[in-house]
Amino acid sequence: MKNTAQVVVIGGGVVGCSVLYHLTKMGWSDVMLLERSELTSGSTWHAAGGFHTLNSDTNMAALQGYTIRLYRELEEITGMSCGLHHVGGVTLAADQDRLDMLKAERAKHRYMGLETEIIGPEEIARLAPVTNVDGILGGLYDPLDGHLDPSGTTHAYAKAARMAGATIVTHCMVTATTPRGDGTWDVVTDKGNVHAEHVVNAAGLWVREVAAMAGLYLPLHPMEHQYIVTDDLPEVYERGSEHPHVMDPAGESYLRQEGRGLCIGFYEQNCRPWAVNGTPWSFGHELLPDDLDKIEDSIAFAYKRFPVLERAGVKSVIHGPFTFAPDGNPLVGPVPGMRGYWSACAVMAGFSQGGGVGKALAEWMVEGEPENDIFAMDVARFGGWTGPDWTRLKVTENYQRRFSISYPNEELPVGRPLETTPAYGLWDAQRAVFGSGYGMEHVNYFAPEGEARLEDPTFRRSNAFDTVGAECRAVREAVGINEIHNFGKYLVTGPNAVEWLNRIMANRVPEVGRIALTAMLSRKGKIIGDFTMMRLGFETVQLTASYSALDFHMRWFQEHQKSGVSLRNITKERLGFQIAGPNARAVLGAVAGVDVSREAIPFLSVRQLAVGHIPVTVARVSYTGDLGYEIYCARDHQIALYQALSSAGQDLGMKPFGMRAMMSLRLEKSFGSWMREYRPDYTPAETGLDRFMSFKKNDFIGRDAAMRLRDTPPDRHLTTLLVEADDADVVGYEPIFDGEAVVGFCTSGGYAHHAGKSVAIGFLPVNQIADGAVFDIEILGQRRRAVVHPTPLFDPEALRMRG
Ligand SMILES: Cc1cc2nc3c(=O)[nH]c(=O)nc-3n(C[C@H](O)[C@H](O)[C@H](O)COP(=O)(O)OP(=O)(O)OC[C@H]3O[C@@H](n4cnc5c(N)ncnc54)[C@H](O)[C@@H]3O)c2cc1C
Repeated sequence: MKNTAQVVVIGGGVVGCSVLYHLTKMGWSDVMLLERSELTSGSTWHAAGGFHTLNSDTNMAALQGYTIRLYRELEEITGMSCGLHHVGGVTLAADQDRLDMLKAERAKHRYMGLETEIIGPEEIARLAPVTNVDGILGGLYDPLDGHLDPSGTTHAYAKAARMAGATIVTHCMVTATTPRGDGTWDVVTDKGNVHAEHVVNAAGLWVREVAAMAGLYLPLHPMEHQYIVTDDLPEVYERGSEHPHVMDPAGESYLRQEGRGLCIGFYEQNCRPWAVNGTPWSFGHELLPDDLDKIEDSIAFAYKRFPVLERAGVKSVIHGPFTFAPDGNPLVGPVPGMRGYWSACAVMAGFSQGGGVGKALAEWMVEGEPENDIFAMDVARFGGWTGPDWTRLKVTENYQRRFSISYPNEELPVGRPLETTPAYGLWDAQRAVFGSGYGMEHVNYFAPEGEARLEDPTFRRSNAFDTVGAECRAVREAVGINEIHNFGKYLVTGPNAVEWLNRIMANRVPEVGRIALTAMLSRKGKIIGDFTMMRLGFETVQLTASYSALDFHMRWFQEHQKSGVSLRNITKERLGFQIAGPNARAVLGAVAGVDVSREAIPFLSVRQLAVGHIPVTVARVSYTGDLGYEIYCARDHQIALYQALSSAGQDLGMKPFGMRAMMSLRLEKSFGSWMREYRPDYTPAETGLDRFMSFKKNDFIGRDAAMRLRDTPPDRHLTTLLVEADDADVVGYEPIFDGEAVVGFCTSGGYAHHAGKSVAIGFLPVNQIADGAVFDIEILGQRRRAVVHPTPLFDPEALRMRG
């Protein structure tokens, strides 16, 4: 066995083989895959082999589309068969909410180029006659759905990789992975050691064990899963063509033809995490004992939906484990803080997603970044706040919800509260309805006395609509207060701090006492952050950005570390509040006891003050777009600061507000937000973030690419539209129509309560963006008139914000 390789991939399941193939496809041939047994010896060999594109995250759906189209390429390259059956599939809707969700998915597919369609019960009965369509309102038909041979496909990936120079060693157990001082790795195996520049953990069921070899925890857990194959059924084999797939979310089942019978699998409520204390190394090419009791209820439901099953004999039961991350998406990419260590884990749908995972990871390794934004499966979307118990609970919740409707305003209850700040109790006492992001609780809104402290999950306007409206008006008409704990905050200090930031960020670091907004760009000029830089001192800058991107940003900072610069994540040390609205200055003046006039603290300035005996940093910015201040303090001072602000605000009409109001307020200023308007799929020139860049300063990362985009202006740009909505507003990814042509899509939207308008932000062709231009936006299957309104609805001259 060779003892050096540029890359060692650990694990020869469908994912490891796909990674290996894609590395060779991108031109790396000194790549090696180590498999402790035969290829496919983990989850892969017993998979049902189904594939589909449906995924509520558009980029994941696109990646699934890529995977499915790849199989023909593999067959052509290798001459092997993947056993493809492109039979199409239908997802059933047994209630209005499910139909709404499928319509929303169909709407997204319009601009993704996926040819899905909504069909009625008669058409479903015609296409998939084993289905009892009583009570079915419709369904989403996807011609790309199908199934394949899991083992044949995995071997096809492996053969294609070998043909391009890759080495595969089976019966080779990795027992240790040890980093060297220079960032390379010694991979220790029972057949000798391999020295590698990169290690990829694709160990499937054994990811936890392999990660532990590097002192690492990855948040995933295996779950047991079962499907049944029936005896031959004349209703199936006497048809002239193969029966399509049928997903029945109400019955938590998926069904397809298998040979001359059917195969049906279940995501049962009565589910069971597997191997809680670790996957035994002795587990091999084996199945778990049948457990039909566990899926008894699901089977009973399936008999009603697919009556033919009741008469069918059981040919075999497949019961095996496979792994999930807490949100069900894979964990992919460079592991933060571990040079040369890559994750290709928690791929729960290896045959829908494995190709895309391999492609994205190979691009990242070879070219430094994936072609498309894959934040939805980036390993950095989880941080150090995860742990085995929390992960197991969330994975179980996710399994149970596999076929549940995901509402845009939904907050999942399990494993919460996990992280809170001292202010949590203050909000709780004021009837806060909490949400959670990146493990941290935040207030969504405050429920009035007599109303339930629960927001109804819905695609339409929720029961919180009026309450959120009142919170918005309190800000615009007097002053509102909310917490600023859910920003990521970093302190950059040292003699080279400013020089370093000028290289990392696209805008110029401001003068001492000033604030600058800035884009952070990838090497290819894509947006990987929208930051606020506050120059606290000559060698000291505080950065703030999205909370959910903490590990994503820290990984980038660490990758670009430089001597003479100290960077600290101070997110949990520096807490505080923002106050915003016409009375905000009066509140600050009352507590600060110093001149807080426009001249003393102008817009985009930062000051170190004291509120009583509490030292605070006051930044004259507000994401509400109003006259406002962010006031940062030490964690221990948070309650005292709140007391001071709330007593000063009492006579000035101060009211607390939550994130729902915040997002409504930012809409009427057309402010973009992270992962909606600003994400690695988009460039500054398309989104308007280029106004927060300085091409005149020194070189910065992504400058050349950004210059090229500046010189060749993009075809599309973000703009704001006012929507003639009814009881449902834009959420994101709705298509924008000009007549019958899809010309753009929404990035976000909602109801701007103070302006009293339904608002959408979205991409349109530059030559069609004109004040008053009329389009249609499809919301829940209905076309809504939408008129371009390029100027902010609130304070278009920014007189209040800057005043
Ligand atoms: C019953 C069932 C039905 C399923 N149906 C479908 C379906 O219809 N469609 C679909 O897309 N997905 C399905 N899946 C999920 C699918 O099986 C997984 O998504 C996929 O197999 C994951 O592949 P993997 O390569 O990540 O992991 P694995 O297949 O687990 O591969 C990991 C490999 O790593 C090797 N390995 C581990 N540790 C070491 C070590 N220390 N040294 C060397 N090698 C090591 C293992 O031996 C193993 O071969 C199903 C799963 C189950 C259980």
